[in-house]
Parts: sequence; C-alpha cells; structure tokens
Amino acid sequence: MQTHNLGYPRIGSQRELKKACENYWAGKISRQELFQRGNEIKLANWTIQQDNGIDLIPSNDFSYYDHVLDMAFSLGAIPERYHPVILDKSNAEIDLYFAMARGYQDRGLDIKAMEMTKWFDTNYHYIVPEFHKGQTFKLFSTKIIQEYTEAKLAGFKTKPVILGPISFLLLGKEKEAGFDSIDLIENLLPVYFQILEKLIAHGVEWVQFDEPFLALDLKEKEKQAFLTTYSKIKKEFPHLKTLLATYFGSLEDNVSLALSLPVCCLHVDLVRGGDQLTEILTKKPQNLSLSLGIIDGRNVWKNDYHESLTLIQKVKSVVAKDQIFLAPSCSLLHSPCDLNSESTLDTSIKSWLAFAKQKLNELQDLKELAQDAVLNQLLTGSVEGELTSEIYDRNQRAIESRKNSSLIHHENVKQRLKEVKKSDFERNSEFSIRRSIQGKILNLPKYPTTTIGSFPQTTEVRKARADFKFGRITAEEYQSFIQEETKKTILAQEEIGLDVLVHGEFERNDMVEYFGERLRGFAFTSYGWVQSYGSRCVKPPIIYGDVSRPEPMTIYWTKYAQSLTDKFVKGMLTGPVTILQWSFVRDDQPRSQTCHQIALAIRDEVKDLEREGVKIIQIDEPALREGLPIRKEAWESYLSWAIGAFKLSASGVKDRTQIHTHMCYSEFNDIISHIANMDADVITIECSRSQMELLDAFADFNYPNEIGPGVYDIHSPRIPSKNEMVELLQKAALVIPDQQLWVNPDCGLKTRKWDETRKALEQMVLAAKEMRLHS
Ligand code: GLN
Ligand code: ZN
Repeated sequence: MQTHNLGYPRIGSQRELKKACENYWAGKISRQELFQRGNEIKLANWTIQQDNGIDLIPSNDFSYYDHVLDMAFSLGAIPERYHPVILDKSNAEIDLYFAMARGYQDRGLDIKAMEMTKWFDTNYHYIVPEFHKGQTFKLFSTKIIQEYTEAKLAGFKTKPVILGPISFLLLGKEKEAGFDSIDLIENLLPVYFQILEKLIAHGVEWVQFDEPFLALDLKEKEKQAFLTTYSKIKKEFPHLKTLLATYFGSLEDNVSLALSLPVCCLHVDLVRGGDQLTEILTKKPQNLSLSLGIIDGRNVWKNDYHESLTLIQKVKSVVAKDQIFLAPSCSLLHSPCDLNSESTLDTSIKSWLAFAKQKLNELQDLKELAQDAVLNQLLTGSVEGELTSEIYDRNQRAIESRKNSSLIHHENVKQRLKEVKKSDFERNSEFSIRRSIQGKILNLPKYPTTTIGSFPQTTEVRKARADFKFGRITAEEYQSFIQEETKKTILAQEEIGLDVLVHGEFERNDMVEYFGERLRGFAFTSYGWVQSYGSRCVKPPIIYGDVSRPEPMTIYWTKYAQSLTDKFVKGMLTGPVTILQWSFVRDDQPRSQTCHQIALAIRDEVKDLEREGVKIIQIDEPALREGLPIRKEAWESYLSWAIGAFKLSASGVKDRTQIHTHMCYSEFNDIISHIANMDADVITIECSRSQMELLDAFADFNYPNEIGPGVYDIHSPRIPSKNEMVELLQKAALVIPDQQLWVNPDCGLKTRKWDETRKALEQMVLAAKEMRLHS
C-alpha cells in the first residue's frame, strides 16, 4: 500500500506567498526575491510531506496565482489582448502571467483581467480559460517540467499534478458561438504529449491527471472525449504510470466510463462519494489500481480511524495490497496548513481537528494500522480482544469525546429545531397585503434609494479594530470611535439624500465572522487561512456545535444609528446559508440541520430588531447560489432546505416589517422560482456589470416582489454619471414595473474610499429623482 497526496496548500503556513506576491506587485521586491519565496514554499511543502510519510509527493501543485491559469499558460492559451504585454521585452513571463490574472495598467496599456469563477462548489476561485473556434495551442511555459526537476534536484521524486485535458477544456469559456470547447481536444492533445515527453525524459514515473468533471453530469460527446483522449495517451506513452484523479463527488453514472479509461490508477473521493465503492470494487478491471480518498480534504475534522480502516479492509479483501493507494479526498488546497500553529483554540475542540499537515500524518497512521494484522482481525471481528495500538486508541478517544461533548450538544437547541412548524417558514400574510401595510408606514417615494450596508472601511477603521484587539485602546475608546464613524455615515447619507439609511457596519470585521463570534457553536483560528483567489485568503470560522444566540448581536448599533436620524435605518444581518457556506461545517449532522439552527438564531435577532422598532431588516444571502451542488439532481433538495433556512430566519415578524435580502455575484435564471419562494419584500442584486440582463429572469417569471437592481459597480473606483444610471434604470423599467423598483449600488461599499462613495451616491440619488419625474 502507498500513500500519496493530490496537492498541498501553496500559500505557506504564514501566508508567505501572499506577502511575496503583493510585495512584488507593489514593486517592493524583485522578481528574483519572489521566485526565492516561491521556491522556499515548495521546498518546505515537499519536506513536510516526506517527513510525514507520503510515498508519492505531488509537484506542480504550487502556483503563484492559480493552477488553472498555470495550465492555460503552459498550453499557450493566452488571449490576444495580452500580446502587447509579451511584445514589451521588459516584461518577464511572470509579468504576463500576472497580467492575465489581474489585468495590466502600465505603459499606456489598459488590459482587462481574465474572468474568475468558483472552482466547483469550493470557495476557491480559478481563472477561466478563454477559447475560440479552431484555437491552436503550443507549449508556452515549461513550469510543469521545471517544478519536477527542481524537486528532483532537491532530492524528491515527485508526481507532477496536471489538470487533465478534458477538464481544462470544460473549465473554460467559449468566447464566440458555434463551437464547444471540447471540440478543441484534437488541437490540444499534442501539447500535453510534448509535456509528457519532456517529463519522461527527466525520469518521471507517475503523473496525476486531475479530471474532476468525471464527478459531474457529462454530455455524450464529453464522455467520448474522455475515452479517446486517455486511449491516445496510453498508446503514446504505454509505460507511463498515470493516475486519474476525480473528486468532489461520486462518479455515479460515470463509473463505468471512469473504470474503462486505460490509466494505471483511479482516484475516487470516498468522503463525498463513499456510496460508489461497492460498485467500483465489483466493476474494477484487474490491472487498475485504486486510490482511496479517505481523508476529508475539504474540512477540518479528524479522521475516524475505525471507519477508514473498515473501509480499507473492505478494499483489501478484493484488491491486492500493491494496487491500493491511500490519499486525501481531494487536494489539501482547501484545508488550513497546520493545527500546531493554533495556541488559543479550546483544547477539546483542537483535539477534534486536523489541518493539512495533520492529515498527512493521518494517512501515514492509516497505512501503518492497515498493515497491522491483529488490528484488522479485531476490526473484522474475526478475533476478540483488547486493542493495543496507541495511535488507534488515541484517535478513537478523540472521536468518542467529540460524539459526547457538552461543548457540542445542547438539548434545548436540538429540541427547538424539532418543534419548528411549517407555519414558521411563512410570513403571516401574502406579499400584496404586506406591501400595502408597509407602504403606509414607510411612505417611501417611487424608486426609493438605499445602499447595501457597509460604508468605507478606511485604514483608520481597520487600525482602530486592530488596536482594540491587541489591547492598545480600551473598549470604551473603540466604542466611541465606532460611534463617531456611524454618526458621520448617517449624516453623510442624509446630506446625499438617500431614502433608507444604514449604520455602515463599522463594528464588523467580516460579515460572517462578526456573527460567528456572537453565536454559540463557533470557534475561530488564528492562522487557519485558505486560499480564496490569488493572494486573497480567508479564515473561515469552524462550526463545531449546536448553534444558538446567547444575546442580541446587532441591536445596539442599529438603535444607535436610528437615534441619530428621522429616516428609516435598516437592520443588517447575514443570512443562515451564507454563514454556513463561508464556514467549516460540522460533519456529524446534515448541513441542513446546522443551517436551520443558525436560521433560528437569526430569527431571534430579526424579532428583537422588530421589537426595538426597526421597520426594515435586511438578511444578506450572497452565498446562496454558490452552495448549489455540483450535480443538478441534487439541486432541489439543497434549495429546499437552504431557501427554507432563509425563510425560517425571516418569517417571525409581523406583516408591517419589511424584509430585504441581498445577493451579489449570482445568476438567477435557473433558480428564479426558488428566489421568488424566498418571498423577501425587497431583493437587491448585482446587476450593473450585466447591463441589467440579470433582471430578465425576474421579468420572465413575473416576479411579484420589489427589486433593487444594482445601478453601479462598487468593485471599481470609477464614479458613474447620473445619466448612465438613468439609462440602466430605464432599461430596468422596461421589464419590471416601476413601482417594484429600488435604486441601490451593486453591493456594500466597504472597499471604496469616502470621496468616491459620496460622489457616486449623489449621482445615484439624482438618477432616482430623474426617474421619478418621468414616471
Ligand atoms: N451587507 C454587506 C455589505 O454591505 C453585504 C456584503 C455582500 O453581499 N457580500 O458589505
Ligand atoms: Zn453583495
């Protein structure tokens, strides 16, 4: 049996890569220094994996920005607009690479970055390759080969990880109509061959092809492409050891296809797709090795050795030992680096966790334990007796303590969830009734103006928060600072002439962390960073236990802001699905259950806000869409509990209270009936970059409730003119009746500067006024 790894976190345990890249972009370090930092991370990662007993260590899992961009770059899939960057000889290869990732504004050029989107259902974002009809490819960068030789020189015989040709094509976007990206496979494959030839010349033994699409719904043509492509690779390189990696789900209807591909080893995700094992074992061809993805690469929980060993045992009864590989379910890219760095976590909670480095250790343990004859006899019940393995015992003690811990389990929370009634998911009256009641109370003009919640989080705001956190200022000093910011913001909104105000969210570090810190059942790490995109990392909270709300979370700041103005101030909350989606979630109960526990906590907050006289409450759900499962057949079930969670959080109030929700980066076409089912009185969405096209889904559906299509893009410092916003609103009014429309920016303003914010909002208010004149 051998252990191998599909990929290790590339950011460095102290986010060294982030710092190096950002310093390089700012011109503070040289190219050489950047590469030096990168090489240090690679070397550290190879060493850690070797020290923790990984037999087959990956290379080419490192990346300066993104591994899909790396592949596009290697294959010369470089959009034409970047050619001036290549022609400028003062730019090195890496500058072109970063230009594609981040855009290029230099020497009179202004070139847009490539698009970025979510890597399957993770919170990692990849750069989307761009394809044209008849596109050709060529070996442009030799990164894959370089990293292999670099490792070899350092004494590591690695297994290069290469994004497989089919998945590479399917991840990209066709930039013109009339062809499918998969049609390009013929043009593409020769470049893969070149890469493999070079690797073989350098003595490579194993190559890992990542083909996550095998766990997705495939068209006939795509299935065919898998067959022909891997047959051609086999024919061209009959002696190369190929490992085909699938992950993020079960192979389902692609099982036979995957098993028929002429590769040496097939990796399957048994954490998400444990159900597929029996079928695989029955259908597996004799000479195909199996890589068992048994350690959860996407979550932070300790592996249960009893379960894993039982599973390995099952495989061992039909597959020869030397055909079995043990691995994490997917790349460890999605795990934080090292639990040992955490010194402030509760020790019990810590004993339940494993980050990337600990997961390597678990693999090594499992490999050893799986070879322990006595242990295996005990597991299969063929002999009776006491276990003697210290490693196994320690693991089982941790697993047991988690099952029964009073930190996790709170009977009252469980009971409350059981008692939830169907009617708790619905508002008292239907929208039309609520609307007329709310209309009388709120008495807002047509095209009411508002914002999404946050106002500029300036350096001073961040500094005050850090000062407070590290004890450099007192709680009172921090509080009065935030009060001043809030006051300034209320005043500014009044001056600008907005209709519905917000308090500005200055007290919040992050829209999930703020609530997590105030809810029971959440833990926070100090260094649990994972890459989100490029140099951006996130530190998701860990939901370890039953969730409840010990006391109100937002009342103070909402009331404080309301006391400063006669206009309505919205109460601002993060919704249950978003809190769930942006956290590491417990795996000892269904996600739906955890989500509904969070929903009840938010419901309490919503009711408290109402009781305190707040008339408008916004529950943000930007992450609702990204929670959609990778297989279509699982959508309905997800949407039913996720939308249910939102409704549970929102429906405890009286008809008179206006509930808003907000969703950015979403498309709505295929889920519009579910969005309508949320029954928010007002939904604000990101719309300006799509020129209001996203509204079509609402129009086609005859969406009945009110909508605020974002009229300007908050991701850019650019100040939009009144006229362009009027134009967008006119477009909106063509498809949505004007009495349903609100006017607001695309999203929160926290990343903007005050000056641009004020000017942009002034123009926005003018645009709304102009619309009122003509309606
Ligand atoms: N209320 C949040 C804000 O304004 C919403 C952020 C988001 O949608 N991502 O920042
Ligand atoms: Zn948003």
